[in-house]
Amino acid sequence: MDANVEFIIENGHVIDPLSGLNEQADIAIAGKKIVAMEKRSNGGLKSLQALKRIDASDKLVCPGLIDLHVHVYEYITNFGVWADDAGVGVGATTIVDAGSTGPWTFGGFKAHVIDKAKTDVRAFMSINAAGALMGGMKGDILHNPSVVDLEASFKLMKQYPESIRGIKCHGESGSFSRWGLEVLTMASDLGRKANLPLYVHTGELFPVIEDSRPEPRALLSHVLPLLKQGDTLAHIYSNMPDGIIGEDESIPEVVYAALDKGVHFDIGYGINFSYRIARLLINAGIFPNTISSDIHGDFNSYHDLSKLNYSLPGAMSRLLHLGMPLLEVIRAATVNPAKVIGESDHLGLLSVGSHANISILEKKKGPWTLLDGRNEALDVDMRLMPWLTFRDGVSYLPNLAMLPDLLINQSERVAEVA
Ligand SMILES: [Zn+2]
Repeated sequence: MDANVEFIIENGHVIDPLSGLNEQADIAIAGKKIVAMEKRSNGGLKSLQALKRIDASDKLVCPGLIDLHVHVYEYITNFGVWADDAGVGVGATTIVDAGSTGPWTFGGFKAHVIDKAKTDVRAFMSINAAGALMGGMKGDILHNPSVVDLEASFKLMKQYPESIRGIKCHGESGSFSRWGLEVLTMASDLGRKANLPLYVHTGELFPVIEDSRPEPRALLSHVLPLLKQGDTLAHIYSNMPDGIIGEDESIPEVVYAALDKGVHFDIGYGINFSYRIARLLINAGIFPNTISSDIHGDFNSYHDLSKLNYSLPGAMSRLLHLGMPLLEVIRAATVNPAKVIGESDHLGLLSVGSHANISILEKKKGPWTLLDGRNEALDVDMRLMPWLTFRDGVSYLPNLAMLPDLLINQSERVAEVA
């Protein structure tokens, strides 16, 4: 075996939530696979020959990160980014596109994104037939019940089971004010028929008809009966009034009912992430099942990344400093999203024989100020930055352009603007 080993990642702090390994260890990679692992306390892999040894002292070595919420149908949607910029470029080996593509546009997504990317790309296919062509805009037209094609959706789900891992739909005031639960009901029925989870956006998105605006705090009570165990509510820390907490100062009963039902809670970090709501839930012991980025360009222009200010490692860093233990932060970006997309046997693993999908993270010392979606500040002493990423045994350096929320602290930002 020695002659074939290409890389040994040495002396990193290896965190494998599944096995519980949480100490210094060495990992050997040959071809696409992990071929050996040994704790340093047992001597590590010092005697094993390798073409290249990577010194990961002071680094965290985790299973390849999985980002459950990205938008990567670049140039077809107005707000997408390149798949590898959202994936291996920021430390994620698997990404799940949240509804950029629907059954009428999936062919292009498969040919131009899934098949070309170095990152493992999956899709929550939109219940809307054309997908999210124009961000949150035109939602009243693009997402109305007449633009749903259940037959085409079901056919594609059977044709591409490895790629289509769920259904993106919306439980928010704009759609509710226009067509009630009609589209969500169609998504719910399709999910049960195809045995796929729903991934449900929460927090106001589409233009609302004011006369039929739902009472914000009642919205989740309307949505929950349509969900099944294993479905996911996105943007749980959104500070929109119709989000799962909204403007409440306490946790509504329906949130506990959702947890009792086995509904997953996802971060979908993005633009409405609120420290206030995060603290409220965390103080009650409610942590997210999964941490995801919702990385995308500006909704209101075309291919414009100037306002992009969030990333998966940025979301993980924030959760860590809000009190989520490091092991649980890693679990929420590896093992748990693998479970949501039905890939527990293949992803989120770090063991001999598994694919060499490995994210090496640097604990960059601060002090730093991390902002939330509403510019509330959180002063921290450390950020998690991607350092080196392996997907199927191939290594990738981070693309720093995609990590603005971690690179510049607030005082530098102010100085830059001035
Ligand atoms: Zn999104």
